[in-house]
Amino acid sequence: MNRLSNKVAIVTGAARGLGRGIAQKLSEEGARVVIVDLNDEACKEVEQEFSNQGYSVTSYAANIANQDEIKNLFNYVTEEIGAVDILVNNAGINRDSTLHKMSKDQWQQVIDVNLTGTFYCTQEAAVRMKENKSGRIISISSASWLGNFGQANYAASKAGVVGLTKTAAKELAKHNITCNAICPGFIDTDMTRGVPDKVWDQMVSKIPMGRAGSPSDVGNMISFLASDEASYITGEVINVGGGMVL
Ligand code: NAD
Repeated sequence: MNRLSNKVAIVTGAARGLGRGIAQKLSEEGARVVIVDLNDEACKEVEQEFSNQGYSVTSYAANIANQDEIKNLFNYVTEEIGAVDILVNNAGINRDSTLHKMSKDQWQQVIDVNLTGTFYCTQEAAVRMKENKSGRIISISSASWLGNFGQANYAASKAGVVGLTKTAAKELAKHNITCNAICPGFIDTDMTRGVPDKVWDQMVSKIPMGRAGSPSDVGNMISFLASDEASYITGEVINVGGGMVL
């Protein structure tokens, strides 16, 4: 399919994992994808690999928790590539610890990246998409937003992403901009590969579909939400988790 022909899409945290899978899917649909990540080297490798496959792709190193860097990113994309049609807020981190052991730094780092970084990108995109009277903002929350052992910081940040998404949806609908959040369940990426085998097996045993998700499972939902077919869907929080949250 070529549902996103020539649309300009920014995907944050796209040097690996879910973001990379999302960038791949949007590229396959014809979008011109800007791969944004902290990791400059990995970003460039993905750019090279995708270019070799014939995709129109650009890498850009930036920290989403730095507002100036995000302003520069959006200025660069608008001037050098074209008006931003799609923003996928994917970059995120975890710093897990039970509540009584969690340091202020663990709390703050996760809030700064997952929530404040998502706010910076959403705000920059919204300003430009309003001028174009069109846009799609899709943010990656998590099934953990409902609360998860050892993840007070992460769950709070991801619940914040849901509140941000629903508010942005209400404010931006009149400008023909949709805003939705995806809650992946347990997806096979470097982030989840960090857990011990026993925890991996326990997590998979809770998934009715009987397997961890893949980045393309999430990418499929995102390319639909970014397409014209989803023009009447906004403010939604959609689980992509093989039935993990039922
Ligand atoms: P990952 O750790 O494998 O990849 C995250 C990428 O984001 C990395 O390339 C990293 O360099 C980049 N990044 C981190 N901080 C950044 C920053 N400040 N600025 C720019 N880039 C930054 O993680 P993943 O599993 O691919 O997760 C991607 C997103 O999906 C995250 O928001 C995560 O919370 C969410 N999520 C993942 C799962 C899962 O099961 N993997 C489940 C639910 C939600």
